[in-house]
Amino acid sequence: MTLEESYQRLEDTVRSYNPGANFQQIRAAFDYARSSHAGQLRKDGSPFVTHPLAVAQIVAEELHLDSESIVAALLHDTVEDTGTSHADIARLFSPTIADLVEGVTKLTRVQYTSKEQEQMENLRKMLMAMAKDIRVILIKIADRLHNMRTMEYQTPEKQKQKSYETMEIYAPIAHRLGMQKMKWELEDLSLKYLDPVGYRDITQALDEKTAEYEGFMDGIRRQIEARLTASGIDGTVYGRLKHPYSIYRKMYTQNKSMTDVFDLIAFRVIVDTVADCYNVLGIIHDLYHPILGRFKDYIGTPKPNMYQSLHTTVISQVGIPFEVQIRTREMHEVAEYGVAAHWKYKQGGQGSGDEKNYEWVRRLLENQEGADAEDFIHSLKVDMFADEVFVFTPAGDVINLPAGATPIDFAYTIHSQVGNHMVAAKVNGRIVQFDYKLSNGDVVEVETSQSAHGPSRDWIKIAKSSNARSKIRQWFKKERREENIVNGKASFESEIKRTGVTLKELTSDENLPAVLSKLSYNSLDDMYAAIGYGGVTALKLVGRLREEINHILRQHQTAPPEETPAEQPKTPQHRPVHGEQGVIVEGMDNCLVKFAKCCTPVPGDGIVGFITRGYGVSVHRSDCPNALRSMADPSDAGRWIRVSWGEKTGSNYQTTLEVLAKDRPALMVDISTIISSTKTQFRGLNARLTGDGCVLFTMDVSVSGAEQMRTVMRRLEQISGVIRVSRPVK
Ligand code: MN
Repeated sequence: MTLEESYQRLEDTVRSYNPGANFQQIRAAFDYARSSHAGQLRKDGSPFVTHPLAVAQIVAEELHLDSESIVAALLHDTVEDTGTSHADIARLFSPTIADLVEGVTKLTRVQYTSKEQEQMENLRKMLMAMAKDIRVILIKIADRLHNMRTMEYQTPEKQKQKSYETMEIYAPIAHRLGMQKMKWELEDLSLKYLDPVGYRDITQALDEKTAEYEGFMDGIRRQIEARLTASGIDGTVYGRLKHPYSIYRKMYTQNKSMTDVFDLIAFRVIVDTVADCYNVLGIIHDLYHPILGRFKDYIGTPKPNMYQSLHTTVISQVGIPFEVQIRTREMHEVAEYGVAAHWKYKQGGQGSGDEKNYEWVRRLLENQEGADAEDFIHSLKVDMFADEVFVFTPAGDVINLPAGATPIDFAYTIHSQVGNHMVAAKVNGRIVQFDYKLSNGDVVEVETSQSAHGPSRDWIKIAKSSNARSKIRQWFKKERREENIVNGKASFESEIKRTGVTLKELTSDENLPAVLSKLSYNSLDDMYAAIGYGGVTALKLVGRLREEINHILRQHQTAPPEETPAEQPKTPQHRPVHGEQGVIVEGMDNCLVKFAKCCTPVPGDGIVGFITRGYGVSVHRSDCPNALRSMADPSDAGRWIRVSWGEKTGSNYQTTLEVLAKDRPALMVDISTIISSTKTQFRGLNARLTGDGCVLFTMDVSVSGAEQMRTVMRRLEQISGVIRVSRPVK
């Protein structure tokens, strides 16, 4: 390809995602770079300008960045290598572009030494550059990627040095920014020079496996696709062998040979919605045997670099294990291109270069895992030197932690709630102190208790990972009382509701003093805080109020008669033939029917109809409190009519299920497996920690009727840890 053709390719690429780009300026930048670098040659003998052109191509093709970034990529080596100054670029192009070029130049000049203090200093310089404009770091990573791609022409010393830097600094930064695709390429290229023999062995073995596994992977892909089609899920499935460096790392850190490395194959299923992600998870676990402890829900708990996906490892019918990653299209874009994908979404492909548009990136970097700037530098360093320790959970899950990590780090890596409730830790079956230094291969077990007092301040000093330290700090920082009051009140209120008495009645001016003295709290907030903290259960407190509750219930019985329901709806005049959406409205043919959102009835439920003003008949469950209340209201009572389910009902009725369960690993796996195996589908999903170690799932599902609902609910109730399954009414 001639230089001009390469340039045209760049323009075409930019035009494909940003037709409004400033092509005049891009052309001017290319011409300027060509004349500035005139006479300079690369190691392979080509004109130097091929390098900035290739970097601009990566910036466009892989990251879809704006005009300014393309221009800056073309000019990125002019200040370093030619007589050009910041002022020249500011005058010829723009001050912003001059700043971008200067930022890249500064990063290029950073000397990476192994001395601790200077390392920190350099990292700060890099961070400053990153915080100033994220595009600087994106262009620098593209620059490094092209240099790595063309590293074969360098001397062996230079190859090793650059590869080391790439492995230790650029790949981790790409990882931090969520740019998985570029990170992998950087790692694989670095490995090629850092351990040529290891790299060759793995790539050769992978080549052989490719042939061996081709048919297998194709079969699995088709199997999954068929189930997606049958379930009406629109999704893309593809399989791949894992990339060389990820296999290499596993071999070395777990001291395994290539044949022992567990899973070499990974599949991805890309779907439209989060609900479908869990539907697909259920399908996968229905099709193949899931391996215990290998499920990861990064949708519920995204990684700090914004990565979201469901991961599970399963074993095929022929005994070959493989990993499946399930995510939405948008999550996929973010996984592949990270910050750049977000940036692209925010820009809407326009590329204005407005600071506000990447202000959030700076915040992300500053607030990563709630850590302060100091911690972030520390955690970045930890990642860069890869000084990690690998330990096992009792379930055999491998957890990697920074070297020197303690059971505290382990507990907080599992979950902040595990850390906050930790009372004891065992390593290889023996109780250890919390400051015990974990070694590779240790099996670590954490004992928790709901009555644990929470972390102590010493833990901040003991913990090695910034993740654990920031979670502990958060625990102290958090206004625990406020939060406990909110949670405690919610659970007390729902508990009291079951008795038939409202919270308002119980805590009326008349009743409050007796209630508080009975429970020995000074104020309601004190009581809620105690429930929220887990010091006492709402159930127990409600139990102690039996007398007060009965007193209020007796008052209800003697209440005036206007609270009793109105007359039953009128008797039918004739039976209609047609059912609208499976519902027959007595006395009306072809009547517009809609299902009430508050109670979402399904065929088989007892139902009643309400004649709305202009929107036909709204169908409620006959036990819906909203319906009962409205029937009791004289101004509405006349609009309630009888409805019934016809003989033919459809197969897709949307309704809502609530599952309250003790939080535990793989809970969502069990739920989604049951949802899938009962041919039910998620339409929406929301999970919320209730603050007492429980999760409340609100699931929109589509079913054929009440019978299916009963089956699903019965089976969900059988899941270990599930406390309650109900159909909520809003
Ligand atoms: Mn360069």
